[in-house]
Amino acid sequence: MISNIAQAIDKQAQAHLDKVFFDEMGTTHTYRDLLESSNSLAAWLDKEQSVPAGSPIIFYGDHQFEMVAGFIGGIKAGHAYIPVETNTALPRLQSIINTAKPRLVIAIDEFPTEKLDYDGAVLDRFELQQIFDQQTPYQLDHEVLGDQPFYILFTSGTTGSPKGVPISHTNICSFANWMLGDSFNIPAEQTFLGQTPFSFDVSHMYWLTSVLSGGTIKALPLPVVQNFGQMFKVLPSLKVNVFVGTPSFGEMLLLSRDFNAEKMPDLQYFVFCGEELTVGTVKQLFKRFPDAHIFNTYGPTEAAVAVTSCEITKDMVAHDKRLPIGVDKPGVTTSIWKDNKQVTEHDVHGEIIIAGDSVANGYLNNPKKTAQNFFMLNGVKAYRTGDAGFISEDGMRHIIGRMDFQIKLHGFRVELDEVRASLERSQYIKQAVAVPKYNRNHQATHLIAYVIAQPNDFENEQELTKAIRDSLKDQIMDYMMPTQFVYVDSFPKSANGKIAVKQLIAEANK
Ligand code: AMP
Repeated sequence: MISNIAQAIDKQAQAHLDKVFFDEMGTTHTYRDLLESSNSLAAWLDKEQSVPAGSPIIFYGDHQFEMVAGFIGGIKAGHAYIPVETNTALPRLQSIINTAKPRLVIAIDEFPTEKLDYDGAVLDRFELQQIFDQQTPYQLDHEVLGDQPFYILFTSGTTGSPKGVPISHTNICSFANWMLGDSFNIPAEQTFLGQTPFSFDVSHMYWLTSVLSGGTIKALPLPVVQNFGQMFKVLPSLKVNVFVGTPSFGEMLLLSRDFNAEKMPDLQYFVFCGEELTVGTVKQLFKRFPDAHIFNTYGPTEAAVAVTSCEITKDMVAHDKRLPIGVDKPGVTTSIWKDNKQVTEHDVHGEIIIAGDSVANGYLNNPKKTAQNFFMLNGVKAYRTGDAGFISEDGMRHIIGRMDFQIKLHGFRVELDEVRASLERSQYIKQAVAVPKYNRNHQATHLIAYVIAQPNDFENEQELTKAIRDSLKDQIMDYMMPTQFVYVDSFPKSANGKIAVKQLIAEANK
């Protein structure tokens, strides 16, 4: 069991000095590079007057080696990292600065200082490289430990201002031990696909797991991910063993004909997180990778990446029912609550509450929101997820959707995610999002379905809509059937690559 992340990383680095730790489209860095760079940065930070002890550091960049080496250097010297993706919208960036009050930004990519209200120091990539090159030895003696913040991530909401979530060393240590343990059984020294941006906590599933097990990260920079042609071409050559990412990203890769076990025989593990993993996606994956281990995991940023998991079996997908999110990780208990009471019966719906060692202490400098969402449950830290779910008889946890995506339509309670899942049962629909249309009195009057259709031969959209309605006759309650269908090629995405449902709702109600 790991009890000190900085020490555990150094141990792996010492054991694999000449192994490639990070490969960004052919530019490689070994574990020796990681050790020397992170040590040099930690030594520099200790000397640097402008960075007060324990103050967090913003790392601004994409998928570069310098980002991870920087995070680890900061951790060694007692500083939490705040990863911020290049080209983050200025209002979001300003809000992060205002909340976290950093005194140092390490800018791997060009940082728009002149457009921001920020008076701290900025270290650019060139200056960072000079520090890395010094190869200063470093002795760990005040690395981030216990309840100290390990990283601070900002929630990705498509509306409102982002909330900072400090995740402690205790939180992330518990996560790391789980990822490395027998819930997943991923062997050591694997090659991980590094696509998820560092500003999304799911990225820890590949980079932290990899560095703590002597693995290699094959990073996919954003411009490559945005260029399907390039991404699909490069993917088989990466020879990755482990996919980590959102179902949306998985769907994207399935568009490539080369995404299969024949062309990518090394790829054996798929770890999904962040949004619903649908039966349709898993069925396609099993077709392409018949022997793969596919995991569904669930969790919010506020509870250190993820807290439940299960391997999805062929049996589970055979029934065409929505997939479970699994069972609790060690150290965490999830339970279902309704009207301030814990639901003890199986299959009864309520809000998912997470309690245990993965739960953060609260939001950064935001006591009001902290008091709303965090509380103590039987002496243990707990978080109200705002997710609706239930526990089935076999102990599996299930998510139905967001509590705030529950609407009343003509007196019926409707879960938008349930409508979406029902729509996606139609053979004519590839992906769908259901959104409510409100009247002037803020009452939902009907549902609109935004649909990415499967390729089809219908003469026009009316015919397609009719076919969809017919195909769903016994699949969806009448009152849940959308009255309007809008056909689109893609959905807007949030900063973390998830479907931005709130944005679609806003657009539908402009
Ligand atoms: P974030 O804090 O951005 O990671 O978002 C967390 C939210 O994403 C959760 O509260 C859920 O609403 C959703 N989510 C995460 N994992 C899953 C999953 N496996 N299935 C369905 N929804 C998920």
